[in-house]
Amino acid sequence: MTHVVIIGGGTAGLPTAYELAELARAGERITVVANRATFRSAAASAWITAQGSTEFDLAQNLRRRGIGFSAAGARRLHPERNQLELGDGQVLDYDYLVLAAGPRPAFEEIEGLGPHGGYTHSLCHADHLAGCVRDWNRFLADPGPVIVGAVQGASCFAPAYESAFLMEQELRARKLRERAPMTFVTAEPYIGHLGVGGIADSRARLEAALRERDIGWIAGARVERVERGTMHVSESGAGGKRHALAFRYSMMMPPFRGIEAVAGIEGLADARGFILIDRFLRNPKYRNIYAAGVTVASAAASATSVATEPHKSAYAIESMVSAVVRNIRDEIDGKRAGAGAEWNPVHLADLGASGLAFVAGPASLHPTHGVDAGDWVHLSRCSACDAGD
Ligand SMILES: Cc1cc2nc3c(=O)[nH]c(=O)nc-3n(C[C@H](O)[C@H](O)[C@H](O)COP(=O)(O)OP(=O)(O)OC[C@H]3O[C@@H](n4cnc5c(N)ncnc54)[C@H](O)[C@@H]3O)c2cc1C
Repeated sequence: MTHVVIIGGGTAGLPTAYELAELARAGERITVVANRATFRSAAASAWITAQGSTEFDLAQNLRRRGIGFSAAGARRLHPERNQLELGDGQVLDYDYLVLAAGPRPAFEEIEGLGPHGGYTHSLCHADHLAGCVRDWNRFLADPGPVIVGAVQGASCFAPAYESAFLMEQELRARKLRERAPMTFVTAEPYIGHLGVGGIADSRARLEAALRERDIGWIAGARVERVERGTMHVSESGAGGKRHALAFRYSMMMPPFRGIEAVAGIEGLADARGFILIDRFLRNPKYRNIYAAGVTVASAAASATSVATEPHKSAYAIESMVSAVVRNIRDEIDGKRAGAGAEWNPVHLADLGASGLAFVAGPASLHPTHGVDAGDWVHLSRCSACDAGD
């Protein structure tokens, strides 16, 4: 009886489970291992102050489709013996494994970064959001300088821009903007690089959007350390200029790593814990292990002066998922895996009342096309927004 185990109940993991279940034959088993009981879309985080809960119960949804579930989390993978050790001590045997556990925010790489003992906030994880909202509400009562952005090693830039624009809009709406000077600090070599070398005129558009809103910026920035109320930043250009930037509220996208359960497994994960794959999304050493989502090692990390990771948008993830499902189904049926993914980044950035859409060709071919702007982006991104706003 073939057993497929999927680690991760997020953007990549859930559709992998659903699609595999649709194609499953009698006797085949699918199990999702997550480290939380509910699904929450990371992409909804920027509106956390405006939205109600977007979570739903994983066990209920999966079991309805005949998919097994554990919320105990993956503690350690043993690929040599096709076993996965869970957080509660249980051991699962698998025939195929899909790694879809997303990124682990590596706050520890920068002193003073992050919500656990640091001084900046993050939108990357559902557990970070309560602190974000609490401190934002305190900040509104006594505003001051704001720093928003993404540190070296980050791959998720669009949410940083989006957060800056949404914060700016809220401050303006509350007539507090003059008391809250804003700076966008990013490891991208230039504004609008987005981790993929820019998309069409993303640089000009995003610079214009920041300028219009009087948000200053530092690109090519390396955050050296953060103290209470001060961020120490050096620029890769400008003769390595150093800044000590004061802030009263800061949201910085962190560097990412893969999950601990795979760290250091030779041939499976790279030095940062991301999963090595071939063009069929399969690990070259452990050929019954596939990966999809942010956990995948980037084939072509961009050569920027301050390290950035190419972003994997949900659109690309959807394509990875389809390829993984197709390939596993074919292998179970005794055929060769032959499906690959499309790596096109698609970003929709809500600017408040309007938005920008970036649609690129395959990342490896230097994305060049498709920038659109309009209210539709704002409306499609912000499900909590009133159609009339
Ligand atoms: C704030 C923010 C906004 C974004 N906005 C957009 C957007 O507008 N458009 C877009 O295309 N992309 C966006 N992205 C990126 C996109 O959401 C992510 O790329 C996508 O969610 C990644 O999917 P994933 O499945 O790889 O990881 P996730 O969706 O994070 O799922 C990983 C899952 O694995 C679980 N997990 C972690 N560790 C373990 C473990 N040890 N054992 C078991 N399970 C584990 C996690 O709890 C999680 O449920 C955004 C990302 C962020 C952070």
